[in-house]
Amino acid sequence: MFIKLTTRLIVNAHNLNNEASVGTFTDIRRIKLVNSNGEVKEVVAVSGNMLKHYHFLYTKRILESLGYDKFCDHCKREEAFRLDEKDTRVIPGKGELEDYVESEKRIISQCAIEDIHGYLSPTRLPIKRDSRVRFSWLVPVEDQEEALTTALHNRVIKVIPVKQTAEESEKKAEAEEKEIEEKLEERVKGMAIFYKQYASGIYSFSASIDAKRIGMSDYTLKPIEELGHDEISLRKLASIKSLVPLITGEAGASMSRALPIVQPLEILIMASEYPGLPNLVSAYYSEYKDANLKLINAARNLTDKTIHLLVAPKEAFPEFKDIKGIEFKGLGSLAEAIVELAKLLESSI
Ligand SMILES: [Zn+2]
Repeated sequence: MFIKLTTRLIVNAHNLNNEASVGTFTDIRRIKLVNSNGEVKEVVAVSGNMLKHYHFLYTKRILESLGYDKFCDHCKREEAFRLDEKDTRVIPGKGELEDYVESEKRIISQCAIEDIHGYLSPTRLPIKRDSRVRFSWLVPVEDQEEALTTALHNRVIKVIPVKQTAEESEKKAEAEEKEIEEKLEERVKGMAIFYKQYASGIYSFSASIDAKRIGMSDYTLKPIEELGHDEISLRKLASIKSLVPLITGEAGASMSRALPIVQPLEILIMASEYPGLPNLVSAYYSEYKDANLKLINAARNLTDKTIHLLVAPKEAFPEFKDIKGIEFKGLGSLAEAIVELAKLLESSI
């Protein structure tokens, strides 16, 4: 099954993507976007790379929770690295097609993440796999006013008070004065004052998932034999279920002190066995629903295969249930829509 989705969520007080620090000031990442009127706007954004990284973490953890442990050493440690020259899964051989097929078989069968998220081996044999899961940047919707706050933080230092009598105090007064001055200086240093920026707004992102191509060879276009049907199904389902933390804002930096204050708003999902589905018009655009109605009406003429449409909350998409030739389902919440998507996928494999 091939899946396209676009979604909107309120993300308040987040610092999900730090770009650079200058002294004690950490700047939040910004990119330039062009809106529907052709105007260029610079906005706070979280990269698709960041979303992909968290999708990797949750896919791995969901699989682990099911007792599944086929991960390479890097992925086991939750580090996303290129395959290095010591990776014996890659066979240099003579660079013949059979070397590629054999290397791919070893890599994919031994690591679920390289199967789902792709890999690149710049040494030994130049072999790579495209990610089956792709994310746009997380950006504020086009009619959103910027809401940015700079907050001052400091580490909390525990000060232990020392009890003294008046006599003692007088005796030590002179010596202490100097000592107090030094301690004060130390404390200010210890407090390590730093500034951070936090952004708030209605955000959107899109994703494209080729679940059909998980567990499949890029060379033979057949399932990797070493992986059974059940194992491939497990990987496919984990790649869908790991979307849930992302639509609830668990994806980015600074979450320990700024777990985003999130409310998922809307999601539109299109799924089919047809590999040439268009990407949905992003929920970044104000008119994305009208644009997607037209797009889906056109897409249904591309294929005889069923096109499924899942929306949530259903009240937000009143016109979508009447598109002819589409299997429509309106759900109450975004998480329900992902659960429904997982069910659809399960019934297709
Ligand atoms: Zn791996």
